[in-house]
Amino acid sequence: MTIRLDGNQTANALMNTLQGQVAALKTAGVVPGLAVILVGDDPASAIYVRNKRRRAAAIGVASTVYTLPATATQAELLAQVAALNADPSVDGILVQLPLPPQIDAAAVIVAIAPDKDVDGFHPVNVGRLWTNTPGIVASTPYGIMALLHAYGIHVAGLHAVIVGRSNIVGRPLAGLLLNHDATVTIAHRQTAGLAALTRTADLLVVATGQANLITADMVKPGAVVVDVGMNRDAAGKLTGDVDYAAVAPKTRAITPVPGGVGPMTIAALMMQTVALAERRANG
Ligand code: NAD
Repeated sequence: MTIRLDGNQTANALMNTLQGQVAALKTAGVVPGLAVILVGDDPASAIYVRNKRRRAAAIGVASTVYTLPATATQAELLAQVAALNADPSVDGILVQLPLPPQIDAAAVIVAIAPDKDVDGFHPVNVGRLWTNTPGIVASTPYGIMALLHAYGIHVAGLHAVIVGRSNIVGRPLAGLLLNHDATVTIAHRQTAGLAALTRTADLLVVATGQANLITADMVKPGAVVVDVGMNRDAAGKLTGDVDYAAVAPKTRAITPVPGGVGPMTIAALMMQTVALAERRANG
């Protein structure tokens, strides 16, 4: 029997717990604050920001969006980040990517105070992850770990193959899995013999943006498969990077798209925002 790793259900349960934590914080006089900086009018970014705000509001996290025009300068953006770094009511700062071409995204990320860097992209947090010390971790990998945990899937000793090496998914997930005692292999566009490699995976995570890249012959029977991909097919329907219908019957557990990793990403953002507010409350 294949287990469907239900991200909606798991995220909702986590959000219920968070709601209680936020209520407790409020009685202690602390309202968790999430600041989102949105530059320009990219429609996909606007949707992502709206979803994050909606989920924040649902659990009582105060979120504020700081919108800058597409023509904003690097200096204007850095000034906004500096103001939020200095604002004690702000626990987490998130700069919605992508940024317009005149902005140096890496310089903006480095300007965020590491202990408010709720996306976990600051090199200090990346360093903390890779030295296995406490820090803020990118939301998508954090959400994947929370989903596996919720279903009692222990990664220690498993061979995890991650397809995709981005800074927001593949690399930080490799760090987390290593910290949880998995044996980790990262594959990418230049990897030779991808199918032979993925067939050795006890845990296969795919984050490439290539619809149906992973076919049934590429998966070891009984593997756990996590599909991070979000692609639109010709009809506009959301699909993942895994051929779900063919692959699912071979697996021990698999995430659907939609309803798998996506909802867990926002839940992870909220978990870390609330954790930062709890740290503030505890002085
Ligand atoms: P990216 O474009 O930054 O990186 C893609 C990675 O996949 C690269 O490392 C590349 O080498 C690898 N790759 C591409 N084609 C490949 C192939 N044929 N064989 C092997 N490796 C290949 O992507 P990203 O930002 O990490 O996002 C990946 C996917 O995950 C996208 O579909 C994105 O929309 C989705 N995503 C979903 C969530 C979520 O919350 N569900 C969050 C982030 C990203």
